[in-house]
Amino acid sequence: MMQRRTVAFSKDSSNLFFHILTKCNLRCKHCYINRDEHGRETLDIGTIKAWLALFLDRAPDTNLIFLGGEPTLHPDLAPAVRAARQMGFSSITIDTNGYLFHDILEKITPEDVDFISFSLDGATPATNDAIRGKGCYDACIAGVKRAVAKGFSTSMIYTVSGANIHELHLMPAMVKDLGIDRFFIQVVGIRGESAGANNDLQVTRERWLETVPLVAEQIAETGITVTWPKVFLNPGEVFECAGIVADNYFVFPNGRVYRCPLCEDYPVHGLEIRDNQLIPTTTLNETAFFKLTIPEGCVMNKLVQPGNITYGPDGRPEQKIACCMLKQEIVPD
Ligand code: SF4
Ligand code: SF4
Repeated sequence: MMQRRTVAFSKDSSNLFFHILTKCNLRCKHCYINRDEHGRETLDIGTIKAWLALFLDRAPDTNLIFLGGEPTLHPDLAPAVRAARQMGFSSITIDTNGYLFHDILEKITPEDVDFISFSLDGATPATNDAIRGKGCYDACIAGVKRAVAKGFSTSMIYTVSGANIHELHLMPAMVKDLGIDRFFIQVVGIRGESAGANNDLQVTRERWLETVPLVAEQIAETGITVTWPKVFLNPGEVFECAGIVADNYFVFPNGRVYRCPLCEDYPVHGLEIRDNQLIPTTTLNETAFFKLTIPEGCVMNKLVQPGNITYGPDGRPEQKIACCMLKQEIVPD
């Protein structure tokens, strides 16, 4: 028996997506990092600790994800991870492109982190490396194997776009023997590098629905927990905006703190950190968008990636677009 569920939003726990730097060794085609909006700083260890404390004060049951750029390029990632563990975060994850700089696997133990998450965007080097850069496929697989051999729990993130959806069906066979624990399917966001790209990155509703749930099921059958975004609500399903009913914080090195990832290309962050204090911004910001009720569901999808939405002959949207934070999950027994 496998347990299938939509992961409900919860105010009882929060998720802290902490970009500790924006520097990266890669230039992926769909990268959402936008240094003009997110900053170019590498936060020092003192600042990282001070900022971590701000969020723990706000919600004690917080899952922490270290992000970049490439977080393993940060020379103090290991002490940052250990500090977070001591502070009592509910879970700690490092998202990496697989290069694992600064011998990070030698400096932390499987007790220090809950997951190391590896990004792979194709089942073959040809497809993955066309998106992420030459040599990335091999580096990622080698990184996963090293982490698994050292006893770390690992996950893999596959960001689906028009450039790689044709290889998603190859992933169940590919990951079967890798030893990963979780598989996350993401949908490409039209922001950062994707926003300016002249390409067909966005996947149609039909293609998404005929591909993703089936592959998720096949991967779950190999014993791996699979999570993917809901994207399209079924008729009658209630729309909810995570900006209102959940507690997610996307923190960037310039101090901007967003509650919605789709807002990250714009200076509409609802909070910011100044002098190590977390304060609400006073100009027009994302908080105002969350409350707008429109027949399409998510306001930010309508604004920044309307290609997701189809309309019937009566001019009404054929389905509501779910919040990009709403996930479905299959947990194998
Ligand atoms: S997607 Fe990640 S690995 Fe790729 S360029 Fe952006 S920060 Fe670097
Ligand atoms: S993606 Fe849409 S529904 Fe989700 S937090 Fe952002 S504005 Fe709200």
